[in-house]
Amino acid sequence: MKRLLIFDTTLRDGEQSPGYGMTSEQKLQLAKQLETLGVDIIEAGFPAASSEDLAGVQNIARQVRKSTIATLARCSDSDIEACAKGLDRAERGRIHIFLSTSDLHLEHKLGIDRKTALDKIHRSTRLARKYSNDVEFSPEDATRTDIEYLIQATQVAVDEGATTINLPDTVGYASPAEYRAMFETVRARVRGIEKVTLSAHCHNDLGLAVANSLAAVEGGARQVECTINGVGERAGNASLEEIIMALHVRNNVYPYETGINTKLIYPTSQLLSALTGVGVQPNKAVVGRNAFAHESGVHQHGIIKDRRTYEIMTPESVGAPPSRLVLGRHSGRHAVAARLADLGHAVSGTTLNHVYDRFLRACELGTSLTDDDLIQIALDNRPPPNPPYTITLVQASAGTVRPATATVRLTREGQTYVACALGDGPVDAVCTCIDSITGHPARVVGYELRAISEGRDAEAEVSLRVLIDERTFSGRAVGTDIVEASARAYLSAVSKCLATRSQIKPPQVPAVVLPPREMFAEARP
Ligand SMILES: [Zn+2]
Repeated sequence: MKRLLIFDTTLRDGEQSPGYGMTSEQKLQLAKQLETLGVDIIEAGFPAASSEDLAGVQNIARQVRKSTIATLARCSDSDIEACAKGLDRAERGRIHIFLSTSDLHLEHKLGIDRKTALDKIHRSTRLARKYSNDVEFSPEDATRTDIEYLIQATQVAVDEGATTINLPDTVGYASPAEYRAMFETVRARVRGIEKVTLSAHCHNDLGLAVANSLAAVEGGARQVECTINGVGERAGNASLEEIIMALHVRNNVYPYETGINTKLIYPTSQLLSALTGVGVQPNKAVVGRNAFAHESGVHQHGIIKDRRTYEIMTPESVGAPPSRLVLGRHSGRHAVAARLADLGHAVSGTTLNHVYDRFLRACELGTSLTDDDLIQIALDNRPPPNPPYTITLVQASAGTVRPATATVRLTREGQTYVACALGDGPVDAVCTCIDSITGHPARVVGYELRAISEGRDAEAEVSLRVLIDERTFSGRAVGTDIVEASARAYLSAVSKCLATRSQIKPPQVPAVVLPPREMFAEARP
């Protein structure tokens, strides 16, 4: 069977999309998981973007030794040098350079002509080869590039020593037949292409990313670029789990093998959602909550007789739990710890005690916990790496008399800071308190509240996204008090932002923040 290389770009294409910002600690955790999963190449970042991005790449390159670490560069000397710096301690490093080749991009994005673009590709591929024997070139927007010019551009990169040529469907525009034909044409017409690995990179704007990636493989691609849960710019990238399982289940149609351990697909998907606070849509193929759920009576009847009646793959084959209900109130601490470890969330010591207490409380209420719930509880109790602030008190009062009021006490390096604020509702008031202490006001751009157990005293999960300096960060917390959980989720999102800064503003003087006058006018006894 022919070997297909899996190039994961969750940490680059995925991370740059809204809501998926991660701290470098979290990026490293995901990179290690991708290595264990069996990804051949991990695109770790874009080192020229900032010194934090560079440090993040270096961190991964030092600690992830089995997978090749790729870094992205525009066709500019400084970008390529930043990649080289990012990779200097890597076991195996790849410099990935890109330049748009469609007339639309050349004219309106870059403001250069075709000749200048060829010169840039020539110069940059040559420079990248000085730093690495492993160089990938991507003619961005390849699927909307004039095919004759695409062949010229690719030829230049191949002549200068590019070892992988990636032909991206940057805007998710191609049809499977067109995309396959493009690979066949490039293979037939570019001299020396047989020494080069061809690669597909597809976006999902029309929902065709996975279909297009598989069509590219049929057209001769031997590397596929993809992301966990299909995250990425706009509608996302081709999803790793869907590609892998299509190859696996339909191996008679796609006779290729990869290095991926399919049993780690589900835990990896769960880890990404947990780290970013962005869940997977329930009906998502392979990893969605409903991917292996059978609701209709007829289907259930069939499944009980023989699972193959309605299942083309087993949940076990992707590491998903066979049943949603796993543990009950008779389960001991060890069982909870073991189940969490199976799910890729090993906990021990005091964290395990907290998780177990919460678990028991939920069980006493007569509800059962799903794997999702268990992970949420575990993550909420896992202390974030060196949080700059800890919450020691949240008190809010709200009701028909408005505005709401709140007091929040935070500690930082042994010092205590208290703020009081009024707000349009208690969540607004507690967030304002936190802003007035940290001095880093954030705008909440997404807020979700979900009960993870039953009853009026249900544990609720708050997940929110905040926008600070045009970057989004997510936070999540679980608790029966939704205001307090909101405060913790908010602080955790703000802390992620602070963790990306080399310097954090000193805490602000305790303050009382008054809301705008209109809010009082609305007050009703
Ligand atoms: Zn992309």
